[in-house]
Amino acid sequence: MWRFLFIIAFSSLWAQTVVIDPGHGGTDRGARGKMPFCEEKRLCLQTAKLVRQYLDQLGYRVVMTRENDAFVPLARRVEIAQQASSSIFVSIHYNSARSPTAQGIEIFFCDSQDQKQKTLASKRLAETILPRLIRRTSATSRGVKRANYYVIRETIMPAVLIEGGFISNPLERAQLKTIEYQEKIARGIADGIDSYFRRKRLARLK
Ligand SMILES: [Zn+2]
Repeated sequence: MWRFLFIIAFSSLWAQTVVIDPGHGGTDRGARGKMPFCEEKRLCLQTAKLVRQYLDQLGYRVVMTRENDAFVPLARRVEIAQQASSSIFVSIHYNSARSPTAQGIEIFFCDSQDQKQKTLASKRLAETILPRLIRRTSATSRGVKRANYYVIRETIMPAVLIEGGFISNPLERAQLKTIEYQEKIARGIADGIDSYFRRKRLARLK
């Protein structure tokens, strides 16, 4: 009995809150492709729901900035993360480029001079997620990059924005639409988030 109570107390202390932010939604459809038809907002939500499922199974508390096809202003997304006292913020998007051959996965973090700690942690989070995503999907790695996107700039916790592949590339688009590939992406993201927290716990124990 005591052992059981101890495990509950320990796991609730341990439970980290992760905010998952599926990009776009509602009237903001994001990138689009034809044949096969594909909308970024739908893919983002599908991936986010799978990531939530996997993180749930690993014992994380997950808060989503949207659960359905709703338009959520960027400032509201940041507010949701703040109110949830989230440990990290992970935004999920899909890419688009003029060149139909552009392909692969990249992860952005914001390099803010006045938030050194957050910048370092965000970079570490991006560098932990990307190789796991690439291992799961075998996609091309476009690397970890700096960007000034609103949601990763304005959030106060470590924050990354994942571009999970190019909707503008017909081959990648066809792949992105399959549930098997979606599961690989979501597994890669969940693996990366879990590794980030496990490393942090280890560093604290040392
Ligand atoms: Zn987007």
